[in-house]
Amino acid sequence: SSWRRVIQEKNHSVNAFVCTSQLPSQPSGSDDLLLHNYAVAVKDMICTADMSTTSSSAMLKDFTSPFDATVVTLLREAGADIIGKVNCDEFGMGSLNTHSVHGPVINPFQLSSSSTSWVQREKRSAGGSSGGSAAAVVTGMCYAALSTDTGGSTRLPASYCGIVGLKPSYGLLSRWGVISFADSLDCVGVMATTVASTRHVFDILNVHDTRDPTSVTPHARAAALEEARRVWPTSALKDLRIGIPHEYFPSELSDEVLSPVRAAIENLKSRGATIVPVSLPSTPYALSAYYVISSAEASSNMARYDGVQYGLHVPLPPGSNLTNSASMYARTRSVGFGSEVQKRILLGTYALTADAFDNYFLQAQRIRRLVREDFNRVFRVPDVLSASNAVATPVDGVDVLLHPSAIRTAPLLEDDDAAASTDGLDTYVQDVLTVPASLAGLPALSVPLPNKNGQAWPVGISVVGQWGCDDMVLKVGQFLE
Ligand code: GLN
Repeated sequence: SSWRRVIQEKNHSVNAFVCTSQLPSQPSGSDDLLLHNYAVAVKDMICTADMSTTSSSAMLKDFTSPFDATVVTLLREAGADIIGKVNCDEFGMGSLNTHSVHGPVINPFQLSSSSTSWVQREKRSAGGSSGGSAAAVVTGMCYAALSTDTGGSTRLPASYCGIVGLKPSYGLLSRWGVISFADSLDCVGVMATTVASTRHVFDILNVHDTRDPTSVTPHARAAALEEARRVWPTSALKDLRIGIPHEYFPSELSDEVLSPVRAAIENLKSRGATIVPVSLPSTPYALSAYYVISSAEASSNMARYDGVQYGLHVPLPPGSNLTNSASMYARTRSVGFGSEVQKRILLGTYALTADAFDNYFLQAQRIRRLVREDFNRVFRVPDVLSASNAVATPVDGVDVLLHPSAIRTAPLLEDDDAAASTDGLDTYVQDVLTVPASLAGLPALSVPLPNKNGQAWPVGISVVGQWGCDDMVLKVGQFLE
């Protein structure tokens, strides 16, 4: 099929696909299925029965799941051609797609160009952790891609690669068959070139799944939709109240990001939207809270890779005491996990120890609640999930928030200095604008801003809404295209 031809042509220069499906390219099923003949790429953290699922880790390099994840089943039922598995950071831990046993994903923009020729530019990161999903979409190797988003892994690569990326409200898309990183934050995301295609795929996946205990009931979904409709019944820009949170415009924000974001806000204003400056005061603490909580949950999730049940097994050297299972675990885990994963396991385990628990884990949970309350204080739509509604909904509140998706454009990949800095705190700072919505479980959509002649590196703007207002967020995203 034509998608497969494009993969053959382009994949070697971007390293997005790590495996392609051997199933027939024309799925059976009738033409009127919603995704008939559309190719969808799947992040290698989402299980597929016909292809391996490595999570970009040596630990799972030979692992094939006996089943499809629910999201994959839903796509197949809709007629989609699940064309292959795409690269990511190991177990989703990273922001640059450099922590992968398959090697880094190269931002396809190094090759994109004026309409006539391919321009070779410097090698930059495609973003992470879902860099392969973003690169596969932007090069036209698939119609859409599934990603995951724990703290920004869908929105950051979407922003760096110039495509649309949706992190839905927590609990809307099933995580059954999706390899866990941090359960209280993990979401399945959708990437495509337009908001309409993103919605097309999202609508197919947005159903309750009894196999995922965190999947939200149809009742709560309907309640949120109802509230959103009550607050913004016309779906018209002139009735939309957009909040601009000033904490999301830190001094580190680069100029190449700031000017197109400003222009986009001005544009919506000139078309009738009401722009309201707002404050989310807990934002500066969100990043630290995110890294404590996500690492703590990861340390627990990673415990299942023990060299016994599945995945890599590194035996003890001949002659050693075979009852010494602890050293077998240690050998397997030292070889199987990359340095970033090992770092998170250590940090997370520490945060959960009796001595550190109060100072780190509990504090982080408190910050998480403050972040959630910040959002509830600015949105007109109430939080349908919190029974008590601790914060009263403001009458002069806003419908959505708008802010840059990232503080900069895609960082350089190539030199050793860059490689060194991708290991430090610098990388974590890439996530500063995306983690608050993750902590609060809110829908967030990154939309690429207009890029003159495709010459500049892409910049994304994020639309964030109240829990369950994914439809509203997508509608606002369409106004930005
Ligand atoms: N970059 C963040 C991290 O490393 C977020 C990753 C993600 O969303 N999976 O944890």
